Amino acid sequence: MSTSRGTCCIVGGGPAGMMLGYLLARAGIEVLVLEKHADFLRDFRGDTVHPSTLEVMHELGLLELFLKRPHQESRRARARIGGEEIVLGDMAYLRTECRFMAMMPQWEFLDFLAEQGRRYPTFHLRMQTEVVGLIEERGRIVGIEARAPAGPVELRADLVVGADGRSSVVRDRSCLTVEEVGAPMDVLWMRLSKLASDPDLIVYSDRGRALVLLDRGSYWQCGLSVPKRTAGEMQAKGIEQFRAGIVQLAPFLLDRVSELRDWNDVKLLTVKVDRLRQWYRPGLVCIGDAAHGMSPVGGVGINLAIQDAVAAANILVEPLREGTVSTRDLAKIQRRREFPTRITQRVQALIRRQVGGSLEVCGPRPLAWVLRLLERTTVPRRMRTHFIGVGIRPEHVKTPDVSDAHIQHT
Ligand SMILES: Cc1cc2nc3c(=O)[nH]c(=O)nc-3n(C[C@H](O)[C@H](O)[C@H](O)COP(=O)(O)OP(=O)(O)OC[C@H]3O[C@@H](n4cnc5c(N)ncnc54)[C@H](O)[C@@H]3O)c2cc1C
Repeated sequence: MSTSRGTCCIVGGGPAGMMLGYLLARAGIEVLVLEKHADFLRDFRGDTVHPSTLEVMHELGLLELFLKRPHQESRRARARIGGEEIVLGDMAYLRTECRFMAMMPQWEFLDFLAEQGRRYPTFHLRMQTEVVGLIEERGRIVGIEARAPAGPVELRADLVVGADGRSSVVRDRSCLTVEEVGAPMDVLWMRLSKLASDPDLIVYSDRGRALVLLDRGSYWQCGLSVPKRTAGEMQAKGIEQFRAGIVQLAPFLLDRVSELRDWNDVKLLTVKVDRLRQWYRPGLVCIGDAAHGMSPVGGVGINLAIQDAVAAANILVEPLREGTVSTRDLAKIQRRREFPTRITQRVQALIRRQVGGSLEVCGPRPLAWVLRLLERTTVPRRMRTHFIGVGIRPEHVKTPDVSDAHIQHT
């Protein structure tokens, strides 16, 4: 058993954990991020880097370097819903540094944060370290227990942060109460090659199903929403019928739908929408998907995870430096981020019902006049764009960069 002690231990090297780890280390705080996988290479994760996250990169002085990583830029999102074409969002309306969404593989994004984190001596990232339990003493979480290739690990810290995603072990072991919000759908992810002549619509929706196509340069990352718990039935009907369903929604895919050879080429994402009633306990706080599982509508999960990390760093840097982190500090994080989370979950449900009513099984075909109204009036379009691109209550980096202090002193 290896044992050690640190200031802050972050469980999970996803967007929330890596961004928080980077921000704390940048402010001179000893931080250890534990990630259960050996690398960041996982397919079909959220790959959208929103204008609000690009704004954070800009505030950190990293934007130019970040955009050197491979990505596509999406400025306008159009959809065909029940035969009507509408503009879902137009980033030209935004007042952010970048008026586009960067489509970047999540491993590039996480690898970039890890690379930047390593510039600071107080940043530590341990891969292949899976947290399996929490250490509690007199009602306070004082550390974690983990499994690593070299054997069990015990680590004590002033603060443990649960950033371990939608199936969070941290929130499970800490007995924080989860409120289920409910999600009527699951998503099947797959990839199909992309041709230069393909239309640039990103959503095709009709009669109970919706297909989202994310431009990944040489291929489309495709997500088909299906009513909850029907993926099994679909599989039983065979891959042929599944392919036909895809072509029905987006006929131009006919010439390549056979790239889906069998069900191994299709990955099921079980959508869970929930949130913690209380995000913290003495010695522990949860952020990102660990605090609130989001619906895929609008693809805002990463955005929220990053915003949580920025808010948490803004609140925690001083108390962590002073060694005085209290539950009041942790409550401040929830107070700051719960409102945007609740509103976002509500707006997602509204969009699903109003605009994408067809996401639900046998849902009504959306009324053409409603769609035309949404298409033509500027205010709803701007609101949708702002919701997707920036989100509710965007956070700004207020934490210092110790390397700046170093430069000033030398
Ligand atoms: C298939 C799919 C497609 C998606 N598409 C989009 C999209 O297009 N846009 C968007 O914004 N969002 C999308 N999302 C949601 C988005 O990925 C999440 O909302 C976002 O990644 C949340 O970030 P996080 O850091 O909170 O959690 P996660 O990204 O889930 O990261 C958690 C990390 O913790 C690690 N971990 C878990 N348990 C442990 C443990 N016990 N010990 C150590 N490490 C652990 C995991 O390996 C993971 O790296 C998608 C999600 C999925 C699954």
